[in-house]
Amino acid sequence: MREALEGFGMSVSEVSLGARTALVTEGDGHPAASLARLPAVEQVIQTETPAPLAAATLAGGGRPVSVGTTLFSAETLTIVAGPCTIEDAGTLREIAGLVKQAGADALRGGAYKVRTSPHQFQGGGIEALQELRAVSRECGLPFFTELNDPRQVSAVADLVDGVQIGARHMQNFPLLTEAAKLGKPILLKRHMSADLDEFLLAAEYILDAGNEQVILCERGIKSAERHVRYLLDVGAVPWLKERVGLPVIVDPSHAAGHHRLVPALARAAVAAGADGLIIEVHPRPEETRCDALQALSPTTFAQLVTDVRRLAALTGRRAGKVASDGGAAETGASGDGPVLRTAAEA
Ligand code: PEP
Ligand code: MN
Repeated sequence: MREALEGFGMSVSEVSLGARTALVTEGDGHPAASLARLPAVEQVIQTETPAPLAAATLAGGGRPVSVGTTLFSAETLTIVAGPCTIEDAGTLREIAGLVKQAGADALRGGAYKVRTSPHQFQGGGIEALQELRAVSRECGLPFFTELNDPRQVSAVADLVDGVQIGARHMQNFPLLTEAAKLGKPILLKRHMSADLDEFLLAAEYILDAGNEQVILCERGIKSAERHVRYLLDVGAVPWLKERVGLPVIVDPSHAAGHHRLVPALARAAVAAGADGLIIEVHPRPEETRCDALQALSPTTFAQLVTDVRRLAALTGRRAGKVASDGGAAETGASGDGPVLRTAAEA
């Protein structure tokens, strides 16, 4: 096959994708339709993006990502929720219980915080992470936590369920490669000043390191506007979903920067086709040391979940939590079961 392509004057590089092999060519040396007729060709994927591995994830129905018993896919609306940062075990346990009751599918919580100022709280480190893991196991929801330094990776290898790469580290390429090697799901946030090609190229680093469990997260970009913290790029959701087969989720909390804007942005994201949401929740935001203004109260979060589940049900999506520990029974969700009922409707 390679020879055939080279015979058409195309330069070819070979990339293995599990059991499959992709031959990557550049330029338009030969019409795609004729290539697709060649007997050894399963699929021709044309991409405008410079990230061939990311584009290749469209093949074979995309790349759903599982973290524990929670699934991110085009058939689910998967909700990750929790505090910005882990402050104490008691509050964390309280938040986990509340977001689970409201219908969250996974937990979030930062132990290594990336703060704009060195004078701000930097996170509770490995001890906080151990608390998050313990609470996650108690409540039966898997969790994501942010890593910001390749040197953290080996220390947390056995602790984390899924790794979040924050916006500010989207182009920390050694971190992307090291984190990818854990073989665990990576929730990759878009940098606030990155265009979509740069975002996909960051994902490309993780794919190139052999890890296809990538979840893309739009969290708002810098703009001329000052009344919202960042400008949520809603159009990025359908744009990405047309070009890559990786789950695309949205973080309305960091985009909004204000709790009153978060529910509307969450609904907009789901209407635009997002595969999930990641949302900050705190029962007493005035006490938190990080992102207090954007944290949702548990009550507002529960209402948001009800609203977005209803929207998602219009397109046949179910919750991301797969029944296995009894947790899904509370939302009526199951891996291949009926379209979900929300906690409020059940
Ligand atoms: C966070 O998730 O708490 C966070 C810092 O997000 P971002 O990297 O999108 O700013
Ligand atoms: Mn935050």
